[in-house]
Amino acid sequence: MVKLLSPDTPSVTLAATAREPAVTLPAIGQGSWHMGENRAPRRDEVHALQYGLDLGMTLIDTAEMYADGGAEKIVGEALRGRRDEAFVVSKVYPWNAGRQDAVAACERSLKRLGSDYLDLYLLHWPGNVPLEETLKAFEHLQAQGKIRRYGVSNFDIDDMHALHSLPGGNASAVNQVLYHLGSRGIEHSLLPWQRQHVLPTMAYCPLAQGGQELDHPEVRAIADTFGVTPAQVLLAWTIRPAPDGQRDVIAISKAVQPAHVEANAAALALRLDDASLARLDAAFPAPTRKPPLDIV
Ligand code: NDP
Repeated sequence: MVKLLSPDTPSVTLAATAREPAVTLPAIGQGSWHMGENRAPRRDEVHALQYGLDLGMTLIDTAEMYADGGAEKIVGEALRGRRDEAFVVSKVYPWNAGRQDAVAACERSLKRLGSDYLDLYLLHWPGNVPLEETLKAFEHLQAQGKIRRYGVSNFDIDDMHALHSLPGGNASAVNQVLYHLGSRGIEHSLLPWQRQHVLPTMAYCPLAQGGQELDHPEVRAIADTFGVTPAQVLLAWTIRPAPDGQRDVIAISKAVQPAHVEANAAALALRLDDASLARLDAAFPAPTRKPPLDIV
């Protein structure tokens, strides 16, 4: 059972399903893309995830794609003996999302993770396998207890309409999409639609993959005001509450360096005030027209 470090931790609740009670997750979780690719020592990647878990970032995002399964193995190693402390998200390739193939892909992911269940299984992006087939596979995996929830990733508004028109489509727990201060396209129509349907968003690349947003003078100035780093400003901005005050965005930042892990967990305590949010709005305006969904 995942726990919040404190009752004040910004959190997002995924609704109950027919089989599972609602679950409340810290609004900042951990990514794992590029782990298992030997860019950093394996030991450091495992320790980073464990350290993040210790600091309350209990949601860990991975995918069969990352390092061709290597990232799932790192996650599995990090969770050895403490699987129940984490909320593990993995993703299936679109071409593995058929009725039988998705079951086999999920079983391979579970084996690499050393676990007998996923907390959340996502279709990584829309593909050619009919969505109803993927939903049937997800429902089957759920009935078997191999996944607790399912959802989608990289779905734009039309894809969400298609999903919701199908049986089981509105049981999708999240849509995981690219979202950061420098890429606000989802705010035009996808995010409002998801809010209307009480569908939380998982924001990937919340740190713009270490991009230029971290060096922007306005971001730096706000970071200085709060005595934090630009990365922490980006994370606190990503998970800021919706206009109704509810939180429904979970940021999944990836970090291997211990100082980065610490900073990301500490960003859970940063509350940007209205004046800072207005300055960030001015520096990085929200879109006035619907752009194509941003992806990496
Ligand atoms: P992020 O925006 O999380 O950026 C990661 C980079 O930022 C790394 O270079 C990391 O360095 C650095 N970093 C981390 N914390 C800090 C900090 N506090 N200060 C400064 N730099 C920092 O990019 P990702 O592409 O990794 O996205 C996050 C996660 O989202 C992925 O790992 C993956 O799980 C998921 N994702 C999902 C996609 C999808 O299609 N569904 C697509 C892309 C990502 P270091 O590692 O050296 O600490």
